[in-house]
Amino acid sequence: MSFSYDLLATDGSARAGMLHTAHGDVPTPTFMAVGTAGTVKAMTADAVRATGAKIVLGNTYHLMLRPGAERVAKLGGLHKMMDWPGPILTDSGGFQVMSLAKLRKMDESGVTFRSHIDGTPYHLTPERSTEIQHLLDATITMQLDECTKFPATHQEAAESMRLSTRWAKRSRDAFVRREGYGQFGIVQGSTYQDLRRESADALAALEFEGYAIGGLAVGEGQEMMFEVLDYTTPMLPAHKPRYLMGVGTPDDLLGAVARGVDMFDCVMPTRAGRTARAFTSRGIFNLRNARFQDDTRPLDDNCSCLACTRHTRAYLHHLFRCEEILGPMLLTAHNLTYYQSLMQGARDAILAGNYTEYCDTVRAAWAAGDTDT
Ligand SMILES: [Zn+2]
Repeated sequence: MSFSYDLLATDGSARAGMLHTAHGDVPTPTFMAVGTAGTVKAMTADAVRATGAKIVLGNTYHLMLRPGAERVAKLGGLHKMMDWPGPILTDSGGFQVMSLAKLRKMDESGVTFRSHIDGTPYHLTPERSTEIQHLLDATITMQLDECTKFPATHQEAAESMRLSTRWAKRSRDAFVRREGYGQFGIVQGSTYQDLRRESADALAALEFEGYAIGGLAVGEGQEMMFEVLDYTTPMLPAHKPRYLMGVGTPDDLLGAVARGVDMFDCVMPTRAGRTARAFTSRGIFNLRNARFQDDTRPLDDNCSCLACTRHTRAYLHHLFRCEEILGPMLLTAHNLTYYQSLMQGARDAILAGNYTEYCDTVRAAWAAGDTDT
């Protein structure tokens, strides 16, 4: 099976498609659960599958430090290690080096840094990042890039984007082509349309299997993010998948799908699940709130997850008040199930040609909120 993307339907700029990979098919739009260190936190692999997830994300930075890329390869690769035979996308490590590592120093060759765990020095280059992702057996490899800071002047954004473009070429040259595996380039250029165009054109010439939009959700706000997407997605090849990195809230996802994005990842549903915040069809709840202590209703009566079908809001509230580990487990499962059902609903609506109505209905239910009985 070659790595390919079939565009099945469009509704306005929104797209429904099917991504074919060596490790299985992924219907799009899709949300990728974040499996930072070879595990989606608080979830067994079976629990992740039960949410409807078809593809998960692994973090190169965390895995290169512990247990080490060569060790993962010796253990049979990331799919085997984490019991996830399906597709896995790994990031390049660059973003987390810049946010977590100590004594970072970046130059043309790559990034030198010390581990935030034990101070061990590393040198991450486009070539080494690509090699690490190969050792992990990533279905989708990301190029090493620099996530441009926000705000950035036009000159800063241009210099950063051009460095990422040079790294894209080196990453592409280092990528070992295998049947059903792909590599994505990352469009940078901050909030400048001419720079996004220059980046997109240079990456298209390298013929990546897919294209990510980077440097968004870094503080620019939803309105500006949507504005950048409005002009950036049409710059990308129509018959390749498009991935918006690190986004976002359910509302961000609906808006980005409307603007032609196919793939997302974000720690939000998993992180929120560990801190008692639930994303539901009736908006966001904080399960620590005392108003739930006698509430015998399901968390979300539209949801098929274990938390919603087998337990009450009162029980979930109790678990978080007692800091029982089952609370984060159940709520992570719920939040991921909610994100998957939101994307499944989006896909169905695009295929049926009523995506705008779908978004209106979902947003109206969030706004209506929950009525106390
Ligand atoms: Zn649920």
